[in-house]
Amino acid sequence: MVFGVGGVGKGTLVARLLELRDHLWLSRSWTTRARRPSEPCDAYVFVDKDQFMDRVEAGGFVEWTEFAGNGRLYGTPTLDAPEGFDVVLEIEIDGAAQIKARYPAAVLVLIAAPSLQVQAERLRQRGDDEQSIASRLAVGEEEDRVGRRMADHVVVNDDLVRAAQELAGIVDSCRRHADEAQRE
Ligand code: 5GP
Repeated sequence: MVFGVGGVGKGTLVARLLELRDHLWLSRSWTTRARRPSEPCDAYVFVDKDQFMDRVEAGGFVEWTEFAGNGRLYGTPTLDAPEGFDVVLEIEIDGAAQIKARYPAAVLVLIAAPSLQVQAERLRQRGDDEQSIASRLAVGEEEDRVGRRMADHVVVNDDLVRAAQELAGIVDSCRRHADEAQRE
């Protein structure tokens, strides 16, 4: 599972990872935030708060959180990956902690920005306003520290092609270990 703070380029990196490895299945999250103009309609399942909370009450999320950066709700719906696929989640740190508690075998990969300046610029290019960028960076610094303690691996997203290769290598080695463990 790939996690980290906003603006580290997790989404782009995961998209590249999925191009590199075809046995991976990306879970599509639910959110109560509005769709950004730059986003495709299926980036998330976009719902209102009542719909989200109905699903929470029905036990339909494996993790969910109110994201500190924007006060909106995000959740990973019950996983239904096709047989033989490994699940990829692209989520923030609180959700990652919930997943690790529920699925101890989950592999946590923290995606880190090369610097705060690069992270701020990525948020700006994505269309976030200056106030939300400042609040994300403040939350992000602390979360990055917590994330580094939780993570099984840390990948610095300094260069997309390089970082995606490193991530694919981690996926390969986790799959190999899981296959070996199953054979024993
Ligand atoms: P954004 O609003 O920028 O798309 O996402 C905000 C943060 O929420 C990002 O760090 C993103 O990875 C995270 N996120 C997206 N989907 C989920 C989810 O299902 N669960 C959790 N916990 N975080 C999510």
